[in-house]
Amino acid sequence: MNPSPLPPGYLNLMGYVDRSEVNGPGCRAVVWLQGCHRGCPGCFNPASWSFEVNQLVSVDDLAAKILSQPQNEGVTFSGGEPFWQAVALAQLARQLKAAGLNVMSFSGFTLAELQSDRAPSGSQALLAQLDILVDGPFVESLAIRDPESLVSSRNQRLHALNPVFKERLDWASDQLEVHVLKDGSRIVTGYRGTLRA
Ligand code: SF4
Repeated sequence: MNPSPLPPGYLNLMGYVDRSEVNGPGCRAVVWLQGCHRGCPGCFNPASWSFEVNQLVSVDDLAAKILSQPQNEGVTFSGGEPFWQAVALAQLARQLKAAGLNVMSFSGFTLAELQSDRAPSGSQALLAQLDILVDGPFVESLAIRDPESLVSSRNQRLHALNPVFKERLDWASDQLEVHVLKDGSRIVTGYRGTLRA
C-alpha cells in the first residue's frame, strides 16, 4: 500500500540534525524521513513507521537550511523509508549537488527493487543523484552486533554509486552522537543507526 501523497515540493520529516560524523563520510547533515511500512522486528526507529504528517518542510527551505552549514560535505537520508518520498528528495538532492554536496541514502528496498518497475515513484530520479546507497531492510536473524560494521544486518549492502566514494566507505560507525535541539528534545544517533527523539 502506497502512503498518502504529500503536497508537491514538501517532505515529511521524522528528524533532522545539522552536523553528524556517524551517518556517512565526513561531516554531514542527516534527514530522517517519516514513514515505513515494513515493521522489521528489532527496528531501531519504530517511531518512524507512521505515515502521519510529523514535520512538513518544503524542499527549498530544507535545502537552504542544509546549505547554511558550510562545514558539511554532504547529506544523508535515513528513515523511515526515504524512497517513499523519492520525488521530493530527488529535487532536494539536485539542489544540494549543484552546490557541491554529496548525497547518501539508506533504504529498506534493495537496489534491484529500486531499479524495477515496482519501485516507489521517483526512485530512478533519486538514485541518479546518489553517491552512496545502503540498501536492504534490517533482518534481526542476520544482525551484526559489531560497532565497526557500517551495516546492521548481513543482507544489507553498501553501494558506491559514484565510484569516487569506493575508497571512502568508512565512517565512525562505532560512535554515538547526542544532539540536543532548541526545544530541549534529543536525537541520539550512531552505533546501530539508533535514532531517538
Ligand atoms: S526498513 Fe528500516 S525503518 Fe523500516 S521497519 Fe525496517 S529497520 Fe525500521
